Amino acid sequence: MEIHRLKLSGFKSFVEPAELRVEPGLTGVVGPNGCGKSNLLEAIRWVMGENSPKSMRSGGMEDVIFAGTQSRPPRDFAEVVLHGRDAEGEELSVTRRIERGAGSAYRVNGRDVRAKDVALTFADAATGAHSPALVSQGKIAQVIAAKPTERRAMLEEAAGIAGLHVRRKDAEGKLRQTEANLARLEDLMAGLD
Ligand code: ATP
Repeated sequence: MEIHRLKLSGFKSFVEPAELRVEPGLTGVVGPNGCGKSNLLEAIRWVMGENSPKSMRSGGMEDVIFAGTQSRPPRDFAEVVLHGRDAEGEELSVTRRIERGAGSAYRVNGRDVRAKDVALTFADAATGAHSPALVSQGKIAQVIAAKPTERRAMLEEAAGIAGLHVRRKDAEGKLRQTEANLARLEDLMAGLD
């Protein structure tokens, strides 16, 4: 997966619409302490479906919305758009928007989708909100101290098979539902005898 552009509006300290271009080669983001460098990484993680406030350094999910300052009122929504190319080289645009009291909505290539579809899109592209490619401050020590199960998840993500787990869970759910339907059908048929 390649990221080409990131657009933010009302996300954390990015109150005004802002655009970050990722050109070929190495991109560095520099700035004084507290200017929003880590917020950019969090925006990437968030648009990929991150739902843990803790990993967004927030108390609740709505805390990613610009909270206002002494001179600026708070915003009602936050939006992040990620443009890039998927593993097959196809153009990919993913939008996540959160409104106060209304939760998150996602779009992939302009179409409304569910959070699960976004998770699958990124899992298939061997990346995602929990991708080991996104390393935030203090995470290196955590990677070294990771438990074997966590390390296995990292390897699976790197191998691009993380999406299979989501599909397996889905398939198991459908199987359970079908078994319950079958049992109910057998009961009904027994009643007809
Ligand atoms: P450092 O170099 O110290 O790691 P940084 O450049 O990575 O800093 P960030 O941690 O990304 O900076 O940004 C922190 C800033 O974002 C703080 O000034 C904080 O007040 C601001 N901020 C975070 N969430 C919000 C929000 N919801 N509304 C407004 N500002 C926010």
